[in-house]
Amino acid sequence: MIWTGRDFGVSGCEMEKLLRRLSLRRRLFIGIFLGMAAVLALYTAIAYYQIINALREAGLYNDLSLQTVRRILLGSLLPVLLAGLSISALAAILQIYPVVNLIRRLTIAAHAIASGQFHHRVHPSRWAPYDFHLLADSFNLMATQLEQYALTQKQQQRELQRRNELLEYLSVTDALTQVGNHRAFQEHLHAQINLACRRERSLCLMLIDVDHFKQYNDTCGHLQGDLVLREVARLITENVRDYDFVARYGGEEFAVILPDTDMDTARVVAERVRHIVEQHPFPKGRVTISIGLAQWRAGVDPNTLIQEADNALYEAKRSGRNQVCIAMPGEKAA
Ligand code: GH3
Ligand code: MG
Ligand code: MG
Repeated sequence: MIWTGRDFGVSGCEMEKLLRRLSLRRRLFIGIFLGMAAVLALYTAIAYYQIINALREAGLYNDLSLQTVRRILLGSLLPVLLAGLSISALAAILQIYPVVNLIRRLTIAAHAIASGQFHHRVHPSRWAPYDFHLLADSFNLMATQLEQYALTQKQQQRELQRRNELLEYLSVTDALTQVGNHRAFQEHLHAQINLACRRERSLCLMLIDVDHFKQYNDTCGHLQGDLVLREVARLITENVRDYDFVARYGGEEFAVILPDTDMDTARVVAERVRHIVEQHPFPKGRVTISIGLAQWRAGVDPNTLIQEADNALYEAKRSGRNQVCIAMPGEKAA
């Protein structure tokens, strides 16, 4: 049967029929071969006895004529047998070649799919038997399903990775101001102090508090207050170095970790930030900040450093706000 181009998969039942048909073809081929051999043998035997009878009737039956008949018969039988064998061999090749060819194509395709090339398909020749198209179609259907499965899996993996990244970002980011949150600040401070300790580098901590923020909220509303917090976070971030770490410490307080920075430089940075916030045109009027600065020294743990910066911040508040104060090492909380 010649393939008509119909596209379908092979069910288990159809596959069983296909296999049965393939074995039927082989049996048919062997049958034809044996039948041909039997017909030839029968034909030779009949011809032999007919010739012997004819010789007897003609009175020519003797050893010489018998040998001549045998020689002629065997001589003509051999080419006929050889021709029969050649035809059988040709038929066998014609039968086997498409099978071998299809198996070869299937093997290549299976190998390609196993190595992740899911787009690979098997294309039997147009004149290949119907069964082979059935088999190739079934293989291609399997490859298509695998391709779709792999595609879906890849999409799901990408989506999962995107969500993980988002989750990771959210877990260390303050939702309102988009700077680091308190947890990220603590982790960063520990890590930076360890680094400063190992490399014998300086490190400063800046604590920033918005002045009279409660009053600002009460007068202008909490939405305006939120806007101020976002703007202050942005102004701080834009006016420190990329590798300084800005976080919202809590409420209207921010913290900045300044690695590789001595107190003189930290003071310049703090003054710049304070000045920029003071000058910034907030929608509902002027906003100021107070800043406390502390410098890390060998042996000082993160909590002590925070406490020192907090004391300095308290001092800035006490001294009238909108200013930068520096911690006195070892000073106790007021
Ligand atoms: P000081 O100058 O002494 O710092 O006074 P203050 O009013 O800024 O300090 P206080 O601690 O009395 O008030 C802080 C206010 O910050 C109170 C709280 O409602 C406000 N606040 C904290 N978090 C947020 C927030 O996320 N959004 C808004 N709008 N306000 C907040
Ligand atoms: Mg405060
Ligand atoms: Mg405040």
